Amino acid sequence: MINQLKGMIYGFIVGDALGVPVEFKPRGTFEVNDMIGYGTYDLPPGTWSDDSSLLLCTIEHMNENSTLDDLMQKFADFDYRNYMTPFGETFDIGITTHEACQNFEYLKRSATDCGLSGEYDNGNGSLMRIAPIVKKTLDLPIEDKYRVVSDYSKLTHGHERSIMGCMIYILVLEALLSNIYKSDLINHVQIQLEELGKDYSDYYRIFNGLKILHIDEIRSTGYVVDTLEAVLYCYLNHETYQEGVFAAINLGGDTDTIGALTGALFGVTSGYIAEIDKYKSRLANLEKIESIVEWYSDKR
Ligand SMILES: [Mg+2]
Repeated sequence: MINQLKGMIYGFIVGDALGVPVEFKPRGTFEVNDMIGYGTYDLPPGTWSDDSSLLLCTIEHMNENSTLDDLMQKFADFDYRNYMTPFGETFDIGITTHEACQNFEYLKRSATDCGLSGEYDNGNGSLMRIAPIVKKTLDLPIEDKYRVVSDYSKLTHGHERSIMGCMIYILVLEALLSNIYKSDLINHVQIQLEELGKDYSDYYRIFNGLKILHIDEIRSTGYVVDTLEAVLYCYLNHETYQEGVFAAINLGGDTDTIGALTGALFGVTSGYIAEIDKYKSRLANLEKIESIVEWYSDKR
């Protein structure tokens, strides 16, 4: 378990860093198969982005056992004061997350009132940072899992579709932590969603032969449904961390988030392995990351 959580987090951050240099590039215009640098943001190899910043804020909050307002404060500190960044500078943040941070910073709303919940507030901004809370949800009944996932998503993304995207991803992580076979994974998750009884029809392709779709049918945008489909498509169709994460990044579009979320799934499956370690050692601000992650993955 400890090794799987460690694999999940480092698998995520490495996936983010591998995807950063080609973020927003269209599919087919590039190919990544190693840790490169520069590109989109002109930053050196090993630079991680908002996805990892928000993930690390969430882990730190869990380590501290603090309130959701404390966590929201960390998000606002990231947005406005360069908190939890690789080189002391915030260079990337999603629009909805930024608006939620504004609501906290200037309108002084409580954390659970900061998120946006319109139809167009369904980017992958809460999905990208949800993974660590699997430690909280694992042993809970399904309704309580949903409540926790919902509370955390709502800090920035309060629409039902965003919450359901997070819920599906958390159920996938839980299944992998419980060593469910890959071939049973989607079915296993669907049984739990049926038990929960909430509408998950926006995600119907995941439960209807996602794996066998043609790659051209997979849209790798920052829309939460597209992102989750792309992540699971790469996970289901590849065997190793490296293969899966580079396939995810080479889809183009929101490469860092899709690389990160795919990396977390492979990392939780394999545990912390040499394939991840070789890239992790090149991450920017590694000491900071390690101090937060070691605590998280060791304490249960
Ligand atoms: Mg990013």
